[in-house]
Amino acid sequence: MPTTHRSTATTHTALTHPLAALVGADQHVPLVTGGTVRYANLDIAASAPALQAVADRVAEFLPYYSSVHRGAGYASAVSTAAYETARRSIGAFVGARADDVVQVVRHTTDALNLLASAVPGDVVHLDVEHHANLLPWQGLGDRARAVTARETVALTLAAVEAELARTPAALLAVTGASNVTGEILPLADLVEIAHRHGARIAIDGAQLVPHHRVHLERLGVDYLAFSGHKLYAPYGAGVLVGRRDWLDAAPPYLAGGGAVRSVTVDHTTWAPVPARHEAGTPNVVGAVALAAACEAIAALPDSELRLHEEGLRDRLLGALEALDGVRTLQLWRGEVEAIGVVTFTVDGHSAELVAQYLSAEHGVGVRDGRFCAHPLLARLNDGRTAVRASLGLGSTADDVDRLACGIAELVAHGPAWTYDGEGRPSPDPRPLPAWVTETGAGTACA
Ligand code: PMP
Repeated sequence: MPTTHRSTATTHTALTHPLAALVGADQHVPLVTGGTVRYANLDIAASAPALQAVADRVAEFLPYYSSVHRGAGYASAVSTAAYETARRSIGAFVGARADDVVQVVRHTTDALNLLASAVPGDVVHLDVEHHANLLPWQGLGDRARAVTARETVALTLAAVEAELARTPAALLAVTGASNVTGEILPLADLVEIAHRHGARIAIDGAQLVPHHRVHLERLGVDYLAFSGHKLYAPYGAGVLVGRRDWLDAAPPYLAGGGAVRSVTVDHTTWAPVPARHEAGTPNVVGAVALAAACEAIAALPDSELRLHEEGLRDRLLGALEALDGVRTLQLWRGEVEAIGVVTFTVDGHSAELVAQYLSAEHGVGVRDGRFCAHPLLARLNDGRTAVRASLGLGSTADDVDRLACGIAELVAHGPAWTYDGEGRPSPDPRPLPAWVTETGAGTACA
C-alpha cells in the first residue's frame, strides 16, 4: 500500500473564522429510516457550497445588476466597474503578472478548451488527467502527447522531462491536484522542467486553488484555470489567467457581440483580449461572486486552513484504512502531498451502493463514479467505479466520523435498508423540497 503525506496536525474542529462561514452549514436532510440529520457534505470537490461572504456580496450587488460594457445608466456603470474590479481581484488572488490576462469563462473545462484553441504548438500532458485536462488536448490530434505517469513522483517528472527533451512542445499541461486521489505534483519542479525545454506550463487548478495558494508570478506558472463553483462561489463563472500573447493571437473563442472592434456585413475586426474571448453578455454575477470568494479566502490564515484540512484527511484515511476490505486509492508511492480528497472501495459492495447507503442511512454526501478521470480509474481500479469523500472549509471531525462509522457498520453488518440493482434505496421515502418535481437521477460524468 503506498503511503501519502501524513501531517502532525492535531486540530480537528471546524474552522471558526467568520470568513469561512458557509451557506447551508446547518442544512438537515431526511434519512430513509425516518427523521432528519445535519447534512455531512463530503462532496466538496465536485461543487462547494457558497461562502456566506460570497452570497452577501452577490446580494449587495444584485440591486445594481445591469448590462456590462453596454449601457449608459448608473447601474450599468456599476456593473461594468464591478466586472472589471472582479477581474483584477481574481488576478491578484493568484499572483498574476501585470501583463497577464484574466479571461472570465464558465469553468475550468471552458478555460482549458479556450487555451487549446490558442496553443501554437504541441502539448504534453499526463495520461491520468481529469477529462477537462485531457479531451481538449486530444482534440488537437497528433499535436497532443500523453506521458504515462510512473509509480513515483520523481519517475513521473523524469518521464515528462524526457518527453519534452525528445521533441519540443509549446505547452506542458498538468492537473494541480488530483480530483481522485488528492495528490499534488510539485509545481515548482514542473515549471522548471517545462521552461528548461522551452515549453510554457498550464495548471488545471480546479482542485488545487480551493486548497492551496498559487502565485503565478512567484512560481513562474504561465496559465492557471479554475472554477468558481469549486471555490465556494457557485454562480457560473470560472477563469483562465495567464500570458496574453497566445490568447491575443488566437481566433475568438465565441463569435458575437462584445468581442469586436468593428463589423461590416462581411468582415469583422476582433478586439484584443480579454474582450476577444468573451463574446455575449458577460456573467457579471459569477465574476463578482468569484472575486468575493478570492478576497475571503485570501483573508483566511493559510496555515490554519492547511492544518484543518490535513488533520481531517489523516483522520479519514486512518479510519478507513483500519477497516477490513476497505482500500484507498493512490497513484504515487512514497510521501506525496495531497489535498483533502480520499477515494476508496469497499469489498463486496458496489461504489454506487456505498454512496447511496451513506446518504440514505447516515446523511453523508459523497460521490461515486469514475470522476471524469476514466484513464486514471482504469489504472487504479481496473476501470471500476469508486467512492470519493472530499473535504473543505466547512468540514468537521463529526462529518468524517459519521462517514467512517457508516462504513464500519456497512462492513460489519451490511446496510439496514433495501437497495435496488443500481444501488438506490428501494423504497425511498425521502421527500424532496416541495418546489422540486423531478428526481433528476443521472449519470453525468460517471
Ligand atoms: N479538473 C479537475 C481536476 C476537476 O476536478 C474538475 C471538476 N471535477 C475539472 C477539471 C472540471 O471542472 P469544471 O467542471 O468546473 O469545468
